[in-house]
Amino acid sequence: MPPRPDLGPKPRLGYSESRIERAAEKRTDDAALRTFAGDARAGAYVIGGELIVTKKGAPLNNPLFTIDQARALGPSTETIFLGLLDGAGRFGVGIQPTAAEALKTRDGFFVTDLRSIAVQGLVDAEHLPPIAEAKAVLHWHARHRFCPNCGTATQLVHGGWRRDCPNCKAEHFPRTDPVVIMLAIDGERCLLGRSPRFVPTMWSCLAGFIEPGESVEDAVRRETREEAGIKCGRVAYFRSQPWPFPTSLMIGCHAEALTHDIVVDREELEDARWFSKREIETMLMRKHPDGLTTPPPVAVAHHIIRAWVENEISFD
Ligand SMILES: [Zn+2]
Repeated sequence: MPPRPDLGPKPRLGYSESRIERAAEKRTDDAALRTFAGDARAGAYVIGGELIVTKKGAPLNNPLFTIDQARALGPSTETIFLGLLDGAGRFGVGIQPTAAEALKTRDGFFVTDLRSIAVQGLVDAEHLPPIAEAKAVLHWHARHRFCPNCGTATQLVHGGWRRDCPNCKAEHFPRTDPVVIMLAIDGERCLLGRSPRFVPTMWSCLAGFIEPGESVEDAVRRETREEAGIKCGRVAYFRSQPWPFPTSLMIGCHAEALTHDIVVDREELEDARWFSKREIETMLMRKHPDGLTTPPPVAVAHHIIRAWVENEISFD
C-alpha cells in the first residue's frame, strides 16, 4: 500500500450537517408557526425553481430575508417551515421562477443556481443545508398540486410537510429519491467514469437510482455491472448526502471489484477506466499532468474517492 498522501484538512461536504433543528413537533401547531414567522429573528430562504435569490454582499452573499421581504420579491407559491436555529424560525419561500429570473437584473440582488453557489462558495456554507432542504421540499410541492390517487387539487398542511386531498382524504408526504454512488476498488486501482454532462476534465464515481425492491448493495452491484461491465462483491457504506437536484439522497459506498475488463455502456457514460492511487492523488490536488480532476469537495464523490486514496478503505 502506498504511503498516505498529505492532502491537507478534510473539506466540508456540501448540503450536510445542518445546524437547524427541524422541530417536527411544531409543524402541526399553526399558532406556533405564526409566532415563529412573526418573530423579528425569523429568516426565509427564497427559491424560484432552480434559482436561489440572495442579497449581494462581499465577500459573501446573504441568502436570508425576513418573511415580509421574501414575499415582496414576487408572487409566492408555498411557504414551508424548515425548523429552528437557536430558537428562531427558518422558512423556505417559493416564488415563480420567472420572478426569480427578473431579480437577476435588480440592484442589490444576486440570483443563481444552487450548484454554482455551493461550488463557488458564494454564501456561508452553513446556509447550504437549509437551502437544500427548502429547494427539495418546494420542488415536491410544485409537482404535487393534484392528488395522484383521485386527481383533486391538494392542500398544503403541517408547515409544508404534507399535502392532503380533500376528496379521497389521502395524505401525501415529501419524498426523497435514493441514489447509490460508488467507487469500485481493485486493489490499488479504482474505477471512475465520465458522463457526457461533465466538464471535459472531470472523472467521478459511477451512480444510479435505486430501483423499487432493491437493496443499496444490489443497486451498487447492478449499476457498476450495467455501466462499466465490472462485477462487484463486497459493498461498504461510507456516507450519504442530500442532493437537491431535485430531491435525491446520495448513498456513498465502496465496492470490491471482482472482474477487471471494462465494458462501457455508451448510453450512460462517455468513458470509464481504472485509475491508480497516485494518479487520483494528483487529480485531488489539481496537479494532474493532463488537467484531469475529481468532483469538488462539495460533492460526496470527492470524499468517497479521497477516503480510498488516504487508505481509509480496503477490501484486503
Ligand atoms: Zn385524492
